[in-house]
Amino acid sequence: MKRYDAIVVHYGELWLKGRNRGAFIGRLKGNLKDALEGCGATMVDGRDRILLKFKSQRGLDTALYRLGFIPGISWFAPAIISNNTLPAIISAAGRLYGKGDVVRIEAKRSYKGTSFNSYEIVSEFIKRSKSLKFKIDRSAEKELMVSVTSSGSVVSAGKMPGIGGLPVGSSGRAVVLLSGGIDSPVAAVYAMKRGLDVIYLHMHAFNNSKDAAASKMPEILKVLSRYGGKAKVYYAPAYLFQAATLKIPRKYELVLFRRFLYRLAEEIAGTERASAIVTGESLGQVASQTIGNMTASQHGIKPIIIRPLIGFDKLEIIGMAKRIGTYDISIREYKDVCSIGVKNPSTNMNERLVGRLYENCKLDAVLGRTLKKTRAYVLP
Ligand code: ATP
Ligand code: MG
Repeated sequence: MKRYDAIVVHYGELWLKGRNRGAFIGRLKGNLKDALEGCGATMVDGRDRILLKFKSQRGLDTALYRLGFIPGISWFAPAIISNNTLPAIISAAGRLYGKGDVVRIEAKRSYKGTSFNSYEIVSEFIKRSKSLKFKIDRSAEKELMVSVTSSGSVVSAGKMPGIGGLPVGSSGRAVVLLSGGIDSPVAAVYAMKRGLDVIYLHMHAFNNSKDAAASKMPEILKVLSRYGGKAKVYYAPAYLFQAATLKIPRKYELVLFRRFLYRLAEEIAGTERASAIVTGESLGQVASQTIGNMTASQHGIKPIIIRPLIGFDKLEIIGMAKRIGTYDISIREYKDVCSIGVKNPSTNMNERLVGRLYENCKLDAVLGRTLKKTRAYVLP
C-alpha cells in the first residue's frame, strides 16, 4: 500500500497580493509543473492551497524533496485522501501517526455538505481516543490536519517548511553576475526567492567558452536550478578586457572590471528583456565594495543593480552557501578572473576617473568584441 496519496502545498505570502493573486498562483503552478516533471503529479486547486496527487510513492517522495527548494511555498505536507466520513478520516489518521506520537488536531471544512462540522471531527477523535494508537493533546507539537473538501478529506501530517517568498518569474527577470566564488550563488537564490527569473552571466579566464562550460560552473548552476528551474548562462571571456587594461595602474583594475561586468550585464539584460542586475557584493567586504567604488562603477547603468547580500557578514554568507549546497563547489580551486587582481586596489575611485580610464582603454569597443565571443548555454 502507498504510504501517502498526495501532498498539500501552501503558499503563504501569495495571500498578500490581492488582485494579482490569480497570476501569482498561476505562476507557482507553472513552476511546480516544471519542477515536478517525471514525478507523475496531477494538480488540484484549492481555495488556499494546491493539492498534488501521485500515482507512485516514488514520484511522491521525489516531489517531497524538490518542493523544499521552490520559491513561493510556505509549507507542504504529505497527505492521505479519505472519504468524507468520520471513520474514514480516523482510519487515515491511523496511517499517519502511531504508537508514541502525541498529536494536535486541526480540522476545517471548505465543503459544508457533510453531516459533521470541524468541531465534531475533533470531538470524534477525542471520543475514540482509547482505540487510537497515538495520543491527542491540544498543545502537542505534532499536527494532524484534516481538510474536508467536496472531493474527499485531505488528512495530512508532518509539515515541512518551504523556502517562502514569491514564485520565480512573478517579479520579472534579472541577470545574475555569477562568479566561481561563494557569494554570488547565494545572491542568486535570494533573487529567485523574491520572484526573479534569473539568467546567469559568468566572465571566465579560459581561452574559450567550451572550457568554461566544462568547468565547475555547471555544477553550481545545477544546484541553483533546484530553485529556479532550467538555467541559462552566458559565458564571456575576460582576455580581451585584460589585454586592453594592461597599461593602467593595477590599483584601478578591479573597479574598471566591475564596470565592464555591469556594462556586459546591461547588454545581456537588453537581449533577454531583463530589467535588473544581481550581484553577490556586500558592503565593505573587499576593497572594490566600498560605496565610493560601487557608485563609480555603476554610473550610467540603466537596470537596477540588486545586491541581496549587502548587509551580511562573510560568515553568514558561508552558512547560507552551505545550506543551499553551493559552498563545497565554490571553494574548489578555480581560475577566477579576479584572482589576478592586485593586493591594494583603490578604495575610493570616482566616476570621472572610471569613465576616463574606460575611454582610454577603449572598453566600449572591447565590450562589443567580448559580446561577439560570448556564448549562451541552457542547462537542463
Ligand atoms: P563571489 O564570492 O560571488 O565571487 P567576492 O566576495 O569574491 O564574491 P568580488 O570578487 O568583488 O567579491 O565580486 C563581487 C561580485 O561581482 C560577485 O559576487 C559577482 O556577482 C560579480 N563577479 C565577480 N567576478 C565575476 C565573474 N568572473 N563573472 C561574473 N560576475 C562576477
Ligand atoms: Mg569573487
